[in-house]
Amino acid sequence: MNKITLTILFLFSFPLAHAQSGLQDRINKNAMAVEQQVIEWRRDFHEHPELGNEETRTAGIVADHLKSLGMDVTEGLAVTGVVGVLKGGQAGPTVTIRADMDALPVTERNDLPFKSQVTTNYNGQESGVMHACGHDSHVAILMGVAEVLAGMKDDLKGTVKFIFQPAEEGLEDKTVESWGAKQLVEEGVMDDVDAIFGLHINSQTPVGVIKYKPGPSMAAVDNLEIQVKGRQAHGAYPWSSIDPIVTSSQIVMGLQTIVSRNVKIIEIPAIVTIGAIHGGVRHNIIPEEVEMIGTIRTYSEAQQTLIHRRIREIGENIAESAGATAEINIKKMYPVTFNDPELTAMMLPSLEKVAGKDNVWLHDPVTGAEDFSFYQKEKPGLFIFLGGMPADADPETAPSHHTPDFYLDESGFVLGVRALSQLAVDYMGMN
Ligand SMILES: [Zn+2]
Ligand SMILES: [Zn+2]
Repeated sequence: MNKITLTILFLFSFPLAHAQSGLQDRINKNAMAVEQQVIEWRRDFHEHPELGNEETRTAGIVADHLKSLGMDVTEGLAVTGVVGVLKGGQAGPTVTIRADMDALPVTERNDLPFKSQVTTNYNGQESGVMHACGHDSHVAILMGVAEVLAGMKDDLKGTVKFIFQPAEEGLEDKTVESWGAKQLVEEGVMDDVDAIFGLHINSQTPVGVIKYKPGPSMAAVDNLEIQVKGRQAHGAYPWSSIDPIVTSSQIVMGLQTIVSRNVKIIEIPAIVTIGAIHGGVRHNIIPEEVEMIGTIRTYSEAQQTLIHRRIREIGENIAESAGATAEINIKKMYPVTFNDPELTAMMLPSLEKVAGKDNVWLHDPVTGAEDFSFYQKEKPGLFIFLGGMPADADPETAPSHHTPDFYLDESGFVLGVRALSQLAVDYMGMN
């Protein structure tokens, strides 16, 4: 290439390239500057984990940080939640980014200098407390994003709302059945918002990778309870019984036909699992009743309605055919984590910009659930997965979330800071 061609190329390409990447460069630079601090915040949260609705120490650190960045901060939302509002220098949409703060009753087995030493009595059982789902990294990453975007405050074309929510894992206390996101929505956190973004770190996805899926991304969860009532009898005189054990066995088998014969599985999967069966006390007594519990995972309301109806039809009619009764209770827990297809398509280039096209992967529907879904019922949202597994580890054997060996490679965090920051400014239409 001669000098003139080079000059022409330079003259024509530079202003365009500069306009497109100037903002990205700025985000990258700010994100790199805060990376070490993000890792330190995370280590501190990891060493001091707090269970759902008890995240007072974490929330205090978050609130202090947001205040130090000059934000309007509200504390004590949905018990321990913190919301910070960053008003940009120019008018525009309100975009929300969310992190969850709660840890789990898991005893950490990792040998880390910042290993959790916290213990608790959880529903009568002694247990350790551990950030075994990686929410410590979510809090630290979003604190980093807050710092990056606050550093660009005057240029922001809109408002950024930072949500640090409690109790994503839900509360086990039978008297309150709720999640931080659900309660925040009820308190109106989404009322003045145009869109919401969030991420989950993943211990079985390599660092540097972002995973996404338009439409239904994670399952809705319903709890299932079936109580089968028959007639008690001596085990040696079964003809005088209405045997709830045999009837329950038939119901369990009948339920298997829902996914295999009623659900259009070529579109999207579904799951019906019976997780426990309780009935009887002795080898020679046919009991009066059997109780079964299980979980249902679905990806649309139509699918959910169909499965609920089939569970009732199968359960009640098999019981009736035996002369027994089946009382069926289905409790809706988490809704579907549904990534608005239009928003996802609009934001995909932002993800590719920060991670590189080859590192943005489409994922299969996840059969786990997220309370992020409650926000997405209110406004369009996008929830992505961020790689947290050492690049040379095997995803098949890397410890999964909620286990004592759950481990994160901290070098993956900075991509989370860059991704969420880029999503926010790109949504505002900045360039
Ligand atoms: Zn979890
Ligand atoms: Zn989680």
